[in-house]
Amino acid sequence: MTQEGQDLPTFKCVLVGDGGCGKTTFVKRHMTGEFEKRYVSTLGVEVHPLIFHTNRGAIRFNVWDTAGQEKFGCLRDGYYIQGQCALIMFDVTSRVTYKNVPTWHRDLVRICENIPIVLCGNKVDSKNRKLMAQSIVFHRKKNLQYYDISAKSNYNFEKPFLWLASKLVGDPNLEFVAMPALLPPEVKMDKDWQAQIERDLKEAQATALPDEKEDI
Ligand code: GDP
Ligand code: MG
Repeated sequence: MTQEGQDLPTFKCVLVGDGGCGKTTFVKRHMTGEFEKRYVSTLGVEVHPLIFHTNRGAIRFNVWDTAGQEKFGCLRDGYYIQGQCALIMFDVTSRVTYKNVPTWHRDLVRICENIPIVLCGNKVDSKNRKLMAQSIVFHRKKNLQYYDISAKSNYNFEKPFLWLASKLVGDPNLEFVAMPALLPPEVKMDKDWQAQIERDLKEAQATALPDEKEDI
């Protein structure tokens, strides 16, 4: 850990989701975190310290990432224990990864009962998108925050962390005052595509859930 990182408010952030949805790609975008990651050999996981600079000072997320154990089913309790916030990721080009989100959520809240959680739909750069905004509703039923992200293009990289930070610090007006150094984008978000997915998401969030309509 650098000198700078010693006394910062620090939060364990648990990263879960199906294998292949882009978790490792995502967490490795943040260059300092990648450079200073630690290996927890008892669990076979990597911990990436991601530092962000806010208008109330710096904050560190120790983001836990598996070495692929999720492909063989569930993760050990030690992965979740003392988690203070979480990211649940799925891949918008793969329906099954979204279908498994409730299982990841259940496993997580079984141990981390009342922590802020962000749901992230990754790979939104891909024109092969199978899960459109209207079909992404799990977060609305469980009071999670949702973001479209694209690890490969850095699109919305900081958004999940800003939301978690504002919950953890208890300041809804928290802002990042500088962006962390990220790896250069591997793909570029197409401008028209980006405008379209942002319109779709806004529209979907403003639409009542099917169940809610039936309740009326
Ligand atoms: P993990 O198993 O969840 O850690 O997933 P990985 O990070 O290993 O990524 C799985 C595959 O998805 C790799 O081939 C990545 O290059 C690809 N991938 C990850 N993020 C993105 C993204 O934002 N866009 C696209 N198109 N591919 C991605
Ligand atoms: Mg991985």
